[in-house]
Amino acid sequence: MSAPDPSTPGRGAPRYGMVVDLNRCVGCQTCTIACKHHNDTPPGVQWRRVLDVEQGEYPNVERLFLVTGCQHCAEPPCVPVCPTGATRQRADGLVTMDYDTCIGCGYCAVACPYQARTIAHDHEWYYGVPSPQEEQAFDESRIGVASKCTFCVDKIDEAAGFPGVVPGLDLEATPACAASCIAEALHFGDFADPESNVSRLAQENAHFQMHAELGTDPQIRYLYEVPETTPGREGEASGDEGVSDPNDPLVGERQTFWDIRAAMNFIMGGMSSGLAVAAFLAWALGGVPDAALPWFFAAAAVGMGVGLLFVFDEIGRPARFLYVLRRPQSSWMTRETYAVAVFYPAVAADFLWPSPVLHVLVAVAAAAFLFCQGRILHAGKGIPAWRHRLVPRMLVVSGLYEGVALLVLGLVAYLAGSGLTPAEGSMPASESAFVGTALAVFAGIGLAAANAALFRAYRRGAAEAGIGPLSRRDLDAIAGWMRWMGHLVPLALFASIAVAAALVLLSAGVFGMDCGLEGATSAGCEALEFATVIGTVAAPLVFLAGAACAVAGGVLLKYTLVTRACHQQGFALPRVPQRGSGTRAAPARFGLG
Ligand code: SF4
Ligand code: SF4
Repeated sequence: MSAPDPSTPGRGAPRYGMVVDLNRCVGCQTCTIACKHHNDTPPGVQWRRVLDVEQGEYPNVERLFLVTGCQHCAEPPCVPVCPTGATRQRADGLVTMDYDTCIGCGYCAVACPYQARTIAHDHEWYYGVPSPQEEQAFDESRIGVASKCTFCVDKIDEAAGFPGVVPGLDLEATPACAASCIAEALHFGDFADPESNVSRLAQENAHFQMHAELGTDPQIRYLYEVPETTPGREGEASGDEGVSDPNDPLVGERQTFWDIRAAMNFIMGGMSSGLAVAAFLAWALGGVPDAALPWFFAAAAVGMGVGLLFVFDEIGRPARFLYVLRRPQSSWMTRETYAVAVFYPAVAADFLWPSPVLHVLVAVAAAAFLFCQGRILHAGKGIPAWRHRLVPRMLVVSGLYEGVALLVLGLVAYLAGSGLTPAEGSMPASESAFVGTALAVFAGIGLAAANAALFRAYRRGAAEAGIGPLSRRDLDAIAGWMRWMGHLVPLALFASIAVAAALVLLSAGVFGMDCGLEGATSAGCEALEFATVIGTVAAPLVFLAGAACAVAGGVLLKYTLVTRACHQQGFALPRVPQRGSGTRAAPARFGLG
């Protein structure tokens, strides 16, 4: 038997994977060192990890060693999100990295539910200065890009040139971790061959796939059999109790691949694209003067550009930024970039030669950008709070809400700048701006209610959707602010403006549209005049407060989602048996000082 050709897809292609016998692993970490030695990973980068899982309190302590790393999923969430094609899946199932193509955007890392990826933005030496071995092994192409376990693909590919050498059976063609394991806990082989070592082990023993419920079909099968009579801790069946300790290695930590800079893209990009869409819709309904629309688009372009600059600063290899355009067939990040590529030229052209066709083009590109933002976060399958089904809707509705709030501010500023008041407004542009303000106010009321309903539904279904207690705590921390500042206060302020405007119009109807007309009462005219003066002074302030609260609510939501409630998917074990230092450990030795 020889190694099948990994480049040949379809029938006969191998499906490489691993069997990890958790009952055998003794936690010696030989595999982790063998991996570092073979792959020359720098400090802080560990592709093969063995977690020392110890739970409970003395004397009821549970302990187990859990081998983790890239699972080379058959349905890998990291592959479709990659905007450059640097992450690929080969015909033999191995998920590989192309360091020369990766831009270090970290999208694959937040999409992986197994915490398998790292990005080293700077190189560190183990002893401060490079040792001769480190100097020799240093590979600049690994800096600022994503990396992960490859199942030592170099060894496997080399074996293809040697008939009779079988990955998993012959050590020289077997991943370093499996080849070095002292307890025969790691087995590598071809799951497509029913007679292979790994297939037989999986057939003959009880096993599980980590987070199989996510549909990733991970290609590490864990052999694990704990007798029912063995005392211990049930895995996730115990609900929040087992997964709320941030020091527990099974519990996912906050992701750090996307920080405030990524959040800024969602914040600035969301509200700016929302502004462009809202301004276009208001214009289409006669609520934005023709001359003002390109200015709204230009403001949106500036805001979106600020967000994009932050992203540009975040990626590990900014010089390769244009590689982001390579995967429109699957990556929402690529699609977002295409939307940007249409948006900016359209905004510029519309500014120079305004036309309805260009207005439409700008609005469509902005809407596409906003839609992509929602999908980008949702495709981060490694973060339970992001993959919630309501996240795309929340981001889109929030962006529109913030956009409408900005539109209100813009229109009020436009009216103030024109020096016209409701009583005096007679120019078509100002009338249009009044109509737009009214439309935006009603849209703001509706969107405040929609945002409130979505956020409430999101939080209520969070536990059921698998969002852990740590992320839920972060969401709970902003719930009050979101409810009052983000939703109720803007809703109340916008509603008060609508009611006040209705009363003024009603008064005008009752007392005569023009106080100069015969039949208009002096008392009515005085009331109308008074309301107009109050409205002229107070309304802008109320608009300002309502819009500022709406925008602040959106900022808080996105900041929290991206940088706070962003705990990675933890690891799962069906059961952690009670053993080690607990009641089943060796008795205390009396008499020893
Ligand atoms: Fe590996 Fe994670 Fe990608 Fe699965 S999703 S193939 S574990 S990096
Ligand atoms: Fe991951 Fe981005 Fe690199 Fe693709 S380009 S491998 S998503 S870091």
